[in-house]
Amino acid sequence: MLPQAPTGILSPLKPLSLELQRGCDDASVFGGLGAYLVRWADELSPGLEPPLRKRLARIREAFTGYQGMSPEERRDLCERTVKALNLYAARAAARSPAQDITPASNVRFLRGVGPKRAALLAQLSIHTVHDLLRHYPLRYDDRRNCPPVAGLEHRQSATIRVRVTGAGNVSRPRGRSLARVPATDGVTPIALVWFNQPYRAGQFDAGAELLVTGQVMVRKGEYSITVAEFEAVSQAEGAESLNSGRIVAIYGLTAGVSQGFLRGLVNHALQVCSFLPTGAVPEALAAQRGLIDLPDALRQIHFPEDESARTAARARIAYEELFVLQAALAKRRRGMTESSVDASVSLADLQQEYSQALPFGLTGAQARVIGDIQADLEQRAPANRLIHGDVGSGKTVCAAFALLGAARAGKQAAMMAPTELLAEQHLRTVGGLLEPLGVRCRLLTGALGTAARSYAHRRIAGGDDAVIIGTQALFQEGVAFRDLAAVIIDEQHRFGVNQRAQLSAKGLCPNVFVMSATPIPRTLALTAYGDFDVSVLDELPPGRKPVFTQVAWGRERAQAYETVAGRVAAGGQAYIVCPTVDADAQGSLAAAESEYYRLQNGPFAAFKVGLLHGRIDASAREEIMEQFRAGRIEILVATTVIEVGVDVPNATVMLVENSERFGLAQLHQLRGRIGRGEDESICVLLTRASAPDVIGRLRVLERTNDGFEIAEEDLRRRGPGELTGTRQSGLPDLRIADLVADTATLVKAREDAFEIIQADEDLKAPEHKGLREALAAFQSEARQWAM
Ligand code: ADP
Ligand code: MG
Repeated sequence: MLPQAPTGILSPLKPLSLELQRGCDDASVFGGLGAYLVRWADELSPGLEPPLRKRLARIREAFTGYQGMSPEERRDLCERTVKALNLYAARAAARSPAQDITPASNVRFLRGVGPKRAALLAQLSIHTVHDLLRHYPLRYDDRRNCPPVAGLEHRQSATIRVRVTGAGNVSRPRGRSLARVPATDGVTPIALVWFNQPYRAGQFDAGAELLVTGQVMVRKGEYSITVAEFEAVSQAEGAESLNSGRIVAIYGLTAGVSQGFLRGLVNHALQVCSFLPTGAVPEALAAQRGLIDLPDALRQIHFPEDESARTAARARIAYEELFVLQAALAKRRRGMTESSVDASVSLADLQQEYSQALPFGLTGAQARVIGDIQADLEQRAPANRLIHGDVGSGKTVCAAFALLGAARAGKQAAMMAPTELLAEQHLRTVGGLLEPLGVRCRLLTGALGTAARSYAHRRIAGGDDAVIIGTQALFQEGVAFRDLAAVIIDEQHRFGVNQRAQLSAKGLCPNVFVMSATPIPRTLALTAYGDFDVSVLDELPPGRKPVFTQVAWGRERAQAYETVAGRVAAGGQAYIVCPTVDADAQGSLAAAESEYYRLQNGPFAAFKVGLLHGRIDASAREEIMEQFRAGRIEILVATTVIEVGVDVPNATVMLVENSERFGLAQLHQLRGRIGRGEDESICVLLTRASAPDVIGRLRVLERTNDGFEIAEEDLRRRGPGELTGTRQSGLPDLRIADLVADTATLVKAREDAFEIIQADEDLKAPEHKGLREALAAFQSEARQWAM
């Protein structure tokens, strides 16, 4: 083995780069990046040499204040830390003698990779040889046959074989340098063109034979090709070429790393690695599923012999990924039912008492879901349930029953919302439902002052308050529950990591209920929620009218303002939703601040206009909401802070500015803020776009009020995107497998994985060794995301 950097030293690299990608919002790791790095340093330090321990202490010290830093300070600190860790790894690698190369080796040991290249590869998340082998191609180029120049079409990309026929020249059209080298395929002349690489003009001798890949231009019967890649034929014919005359892999790159370099490096790694990973799928199962070996698949995915070899390789790797993912879910599910703690409560007659105290009758769906919750609470094993229902289906009432159940059993329950505004709203509604039944509710958000927060912490630790409602602050450091029996997570899709894992990492094992209005495609239900029971609220409370929705642009804006004015004059209230708080540099987006001043002094001068966005502090925000609820503010100009949970039945009109900027599901969620009262509600989707596909997309909302249909339409038009990312589940991303395209594979992999875990939970059988190791690696990776 190589004397490598101590295990775990580099584990913050991933969360740090995620944090940088996210603009340093301190949400890359649950509980905060600061706490994560402090924990990391504390766990690792005792086993380290003193100089390294000192370095960790410095990082730890720097990150203790992370939460309180400005985004600029955070970015600076994250960048410095990434640099320091990479530098350390590079130095450690340089000190150790060249030895056996295994998948675990640092890429630094590969020929041609120095500290600089290693840093570039790190930007592609390639740290080890295994990472490199798993840097799968984005797509492929078929460069097996070189077509004759005469048959090429304008703008086609092609690989051709040509001979240079003379000296090149350089011209400078529009400030760019353009190098042209004359060539021919033996029949038809073609110019080879490079932009901003003037030296290419003098690089080739007449007669040189080249294989050239690029985009073809045909102007007035004259051919040229803008060269993306080329190589000399003699060179290509000597050894087997990696870059032409075959199906060639095209990789995701970063500046300073070329396709050719990456291909060469992967090829080198495949050759020098003393063994290749054999993967997690037992041989017998692979044979039964008709899968090739993983080492073969790794070779073929990078350098496919032909189309069918490529397909087989992809199938093997996709299966591998899904199989490991599903095995992890199977284990999680079993672990959950068997490590049960006494989180159960007894609930005789409580359901009836609750429904009688409500100001309205429960819908059939609500009664059913409350029944599910009751059964969950009565069981000894802690529940893990997804409560899924469209906007306005009344999830809060169901959730409140779980809170009540826990409180009545003398335990605590917590409800977590994605925004402070929504947490405040929940405190009002849930408090209104539960306090008459003798249950005390308390708010805990990051917006509380220090004194108020430590008071809340004391009451939570002492068990004085049964129900605590808040934001992520609920599960941050310093909060210790006395006896937590149930946790509700509202609008779960906003959090995007597995809360069960987070809670158990804190030593808690309560009943968990997550609520979501985002419709979930089947594939996602099998992955992100693969270990959940599901209850569906498929019925809206009676008397709901669908929101009348209209797409409007150009002069229709004035009409839309009239609609608002008419409704407000008749006693109603309105929302104006803007995509941003401040104007952007181009002024192309409606900004809440400036719209607020413009509307107040212009079209809506006769009305009381208010402004609400996330940068307004909590007490002012609460005051503004209170005024809106009470009708003292008639028109509320807001950002999407109102997207979830705000509940004012008298508001019956909504205008959304720059509606083309939002996803359909998000617009549906937004318009769910109206249509809550007696009167028919109107939602106007304003846009300055006029492209038919943009308008066509928005018109989906004119046609339907069905959240599922809308989500499917969104999925179809925008692709799966984040929705199916396994990041939702707190599991590392899939690299090859595609949850939409590979549903059939997913279903098989799930069956196989669940069967194996069922039969051999600890994976003791020798044929399960690969899976055992894969899960261990997978879980250490997953833990980074999940804590
Ligand atoms: P969501 O599922 O979107 O979270 P809420 O729980 O916020 O929905 O409920 C939306 C509104 O419907 C609230 O004003 C709530 O009081 C009301 N509501 C919930 N259940 C019923 C019911 N059975 N009958 C009448 N109104 C209800
Ligand atoms: Mg809700």
